[in-house]
Amino acid sequence: MAKRDYYEVLGVDKNASADEIKKAYRKKAIQYHPDKNPGDKNAEEKFKEAAEAYDVLSDPQKRQRYDQFGHAGVGGASQSGGFGGGMSMDDIFSQFGDIFGGHFGGFGGFSGFGSSSRSGRRVNRGSDLRVKVKLTLNDIAKGVEKKIKVKKYVPCSHCHGTGAEGNDGVKTCDTCKGSGVVTRIANTILGQMQTQTTCPTCGGEGKVVVKKCPICNGEGIVRDEEIITINIPAGVSEGMQLSMSGKGNAARHGGINGDLLILVEEEPHPELIRDENDLLYNLLLSIPEAALGTTVEIPTVDGKVKVKIDAGTQPGKVLRLRNKGLPSVNGYGTGDLLVNVSVYIPETLSSSEKATLNSLSSSVNFQPNKKAKESIFNKFKHMFE
Ligand SMILES: [Zn+2]
Ligand SMILES: [Zn+2]
Repeated sequence: MAKRDYYEVLGVDKNASADEIKKAYRKKAIQYHPDKNPGDKNAEEKFKEAAEAYDVLSDPQKRQRYDQFGHAGVGGASQSGGFGGGMSMDDIFSQFGDIFGGHFGGFGGFSGFGSSSRSGRRVNRGSDLRVKVKLTLNDIAKGVEKKIKVKKYVPCSHCHGTGAEGNDGVKTCDTCKGSGVVTRIANTILGQMQTQTTCPTCGGEGKVVVKKCPICNGEGIVRDEEIITINIPAGVSEGMQLSMSGKGNAARHGGINGDLLILVEEEPHPELIRDENDLLYNLLLSIPEAALGTTVEIPTVDGKVKVKIDAGTQPGKVLRLRNKGLPSVNGYGTGDLLVNVSVYIPETLSSSEKATLNSLSSSVNFQPNKKAKESIFNKFKHMFE
């Protein structure tokens, strides 16, 4: 199923400010909130879609990647990755609860909106994983599917990520009674202040493992390897970073997975030089080829192409092969392949070759003419403009 544009989902324009995005998301979240639409699958989908859009557009880095690469830049890179795999309601509530000041349940308590007073149970988040992928120009020209083996934390299969052995292995925390927070009265210069802090006993989880799973030693996660399929969009370049949400490390005790961040490395091509979306090729002709004309084979990212060289082609001439460069990563057009012509002058000559050249040196056709002189002068002049 094709994803809708995130700006469209939230009903904001591309230049919307962070505040406008937050307001738009809040409106959608209220409209499609499951408490308001019990049992309505369509509303639930809309609710999730809005949460996903907000997750990306509210994060300046993710938003930039989305603007640059579309869905591919923020986890749409694989069908199995990120939100494509489904964002659970728990994920949404834990990640976006704070937009409603921590109280997502009722509809009366929106006054806390905008404040940072997050309260309630904390959900662990796994750390992000970083990997590098080496790509050839051919990979970049067409986009490529890469399967990579990643060593990472995954939920423990023995305890299903809870960290506890058996059903009675986990108990509600006595200190906070499961709320994840403790309230303290502190004496300050302003008088008595009531503060809420994360429960020190359970670390904010609201529950404690009393009987540890022997496989993961109560952590809920174990080290493992996973083969991850990454779909690299065409047109990426050295240093770009793609991300797949949820494909990073699993979190302790069944929290939210971190992201997988993919750094693009470009392998140099033996014959072609990249200049953004254009490619450059240096063609070195012999004197007879340049003077008499010929047909040459030029390497491209699509295999070799035959190119006709006219008789009398001058060194420094640039032939432009349209659309033989790289596609733009945004999907807007394709670059060209520029063929820069040079002519090879022999460095050693036999005596008969010398005699041949000597006999030609007085020929008028071998004297640089006015047109050639002007052309070189102009080219040189443009270089310094
Ligand atoms: Zn376990
Ligand atoms: Zn506690």
